[in-house]
Amino acid sequence: MEVREYVEQVQKNLAAKDPNQEEFLQAVEEFLPSVIPFLEEHPEYVEKNILELILEPERMIQFRVPWQDDAGNWQVNRGYRVQFNSALGPYKGGLRFHPSVNLSILKFLGFEQIFKNSLTDLPIGGGKGGSDFDPKKKSDAEIMRFCQSFMTELSKHIGPNLDVPAGDIGVGGREIGYLFGQYKRLCEYDMGVLTGKPVGFNGSLVRTEATGYGTVYFVKHLLEDRGDSFEEKKVLVSGSGNVAIYAIEKAHELGAIAITCSDSDGYIYDEEGIDLDLLKEIKEVRRERLTEYVKERSTAKYYEGSVWDLETAADIALPCATQNEIDGKKAEILVKNGVKVVAEGANMPSTMDAVKLYFENDILYGSGKAANAGGVAVSALEMSQNAQRLAWTKEEVDSKLDDIMKNIYETCRDTAEKYAEKDNFAVGANIAGFEKVAAAMLAQGLV
Ligand code: GLU
Repeated sequence: MEVREYVEQVQKNLAAKDPNQEEFLQAVEEFLPSVIPFLEEHPEYVEKNILELILEPERMIQFRVPWQDDAGNWQVNRGYRVQFNSALGPYKGGLRFHPSVNLSILKFLGFEQIFKNSLTDLPIGGGKGGSDFDPKKKSDAEIMRFCQSFMTELSKHIGPNLDVPAGDIGVGGREIGYLFGQYKRLCEYDMGVLTGKPVGFNGSLVRTEATGYGTVYFVKHLLEDRGDSFEEKKVLVSGSGNVAIYAIEKAHELGAIAITCSDSDGYIYDEEGIDLDLLKEIKEVRRERLTEYVKERSTAKYYEGSVWDLETAADIALPCATQNEIDGKKAEILVKNGVKVVAEGANMPSTMDAVKLYFENDILYGSGKAANAGGVAVSALEMSQNAQRLAWTKEEVDSKLDDIMKNIYETCRDTAEKYAEKDNFAVGANIAGFEKVAAAMLAQGLV
């Protein structure tokens, strides 16, 4: 059978098995065709049917999360952990708390995590988990009770050499703190069981900043490769969580000006550049909505809807909010805006239509698997520090992060050139990520 036919058959079989898992099917549809040129040179993976094996999570856990709200009502949510692939190391990936969370979303995230983690060159497998719990407008006490209940069940399935969760949307230092407290109470003081811990108790410096910094480092190396830099570039950013905030911080540090950020209701357009101190105060300290930002900053305007509807000249776009935030129509606006680089701080923020438009218009495109790998990379560095019972300095972690992102950029570039076409970093990321995982799976036998 031709490799292309085999790949199409694999995709069809999956669609028949999980017809309702839209996001998972989307992630797979983006991935499978891109590895064809690699498979053509490595028939052993086709012979051993590695694609069908890799699409099947090694284990999925779903559980009830009962908790009591402040009014005394009994509530229940769904909890999940998808342990997707352990060929390269313990399952590693974040926990997402958001009402949209379901198995399809966690399987797409877990699937992409396998290849992202492989690209970091650190010993981590792929996993993802979370809950459809909505942390919005919940009191601190409710968040704590929810986290304790979630971990009561999850603790039976994780461990520093088995599965190491971290944060994602809706899960930051506060939540990891509560989750860790409960794990410790139920099991033992295994500091390496979670990453993204607060720095005060064995978290790594620069972990909070790592995803956003890493995305900007990825673009920095891409620009440097072309004799260019961030200096005076106009940057569109979506989101206002830790990825967006620290992407803006690093972009500003490198001389660019980030003019937007957003939450799920609307976005800020601040032509003077986002006031980072104010943004941090509102989001990290006060935990308020972005409508508060314009009340305290006269140069800024607030609009309802998506930041990707904004028509304004810009050079670089960093989607740092969530999946499928840029569709074909919004990508057209980006093209009109004159954007030359899109790098994804979020996971799968561009639909396939959007990505097609990027290529048609010679926009340089860093897909999430490559461009946002800095977060999980520093998580792996946190695991190393915990195992050593040492804490590295900020400079040490930051320079390792920069090196890792440089290496990821170069790997994507070189792999694209070898197997596909120049500058197709998305295909480069898929093939380079896959290559290591597939080789390890083959070497470990049918397991
Ligand atoms: N949630 C992040 C990601 O999408 C980080 C995962 C981690 O640090 O384990 O890669």
